[in-house]
Amino acid sequence: AGSGKFFVGGNWKCNGTKDSVSKLVTELNAATLEPDVDVVVAPPFIYIDQVKNSLTDRIEVSAQNVWIGKGGAYTGEISAEQLVDIGCQWVILGHSERRHVIGEDDQFIGKKAAYALSQNVKVIACIGELLEEREAGKTFDVCFKQMKAFADSITNWADVVIAYEPVWAIGTGKVATPEQAQEVHAAVRDWLKTNVSPEVASGIRIIYGGSVNAANCAELAKKEDIDGFLVGGASLKGPDFATIINSVT
Ligand code: PEP
Repeated sequence: AGSGKFFVGGNWKCNGTKDSVSKLVTELNAATLEPDVDVVVAPPFIYIDQVKNSLTDRIEVSAQNVWIGKGGAYTGEISAEQLVDIGCQWVILGHSERRHVIGEDDQFIGKKAAYALSQNVKVIACIGELLEEREAGKTFDVCFKQMKAFADSITNWADVVIAYEPVWAIGTGKVATPEQAQEVHAAVRDWLKTNVSPEVASGIRIIYGGSVNAANCAELAKKEDIDGFLVGGASLKGPDFATIINSVT
């Protein structure tokens, strides 16, 4: 971990029922968490209110997506204003499932980030390459292109956390090695130094996501440019998620 405050996010994706969410909240409320770690969980939209009303204030709440602008005639969407209204302070944007399953592109995601930030919703901005892109030696190109789309839209970097999530590692059980993750994190930090500012580059948290679990988190957390984690599957188990939060070194 680097000098910024360690940050661990739990992405619950499209999982859960009222009962399972209640059980997970009970586990999280009972967990002993390192004080010097920012912790955020992202339930599906329809459970955010339930979580806000039952989860300890120690843990903040995120959405997994948001509409690109002000609310209105956009059937099925949820606006940043509505997130603010229910006390949801964060949103995950650019997750690989939204890029590659739903088809959101870099510019659309960048604009979403700008609008969310304008409404004081903080952003977990996700980037990451596909397996074939890594194998073709294009990892940095892809990550920098995704970063550029964020940078073209974002001015307030203080409210942004970057999540490097190689697509081949998400939900596959195939975690990046600490060296693979560190290499990309350092490159992204360097890109920010050149293309945004040295202050943003040194202050921003760059977290890793992709098959992080209670057993592999400690080794990853030792790396200098890994400032935390975005956790999918393992965030659905309270004790495992607590172990990951407490892996800060
Ligand atoms: C994610 O979806 O952000 C993620 C990292 O998932 P998993 O931990 O399950 O690979």
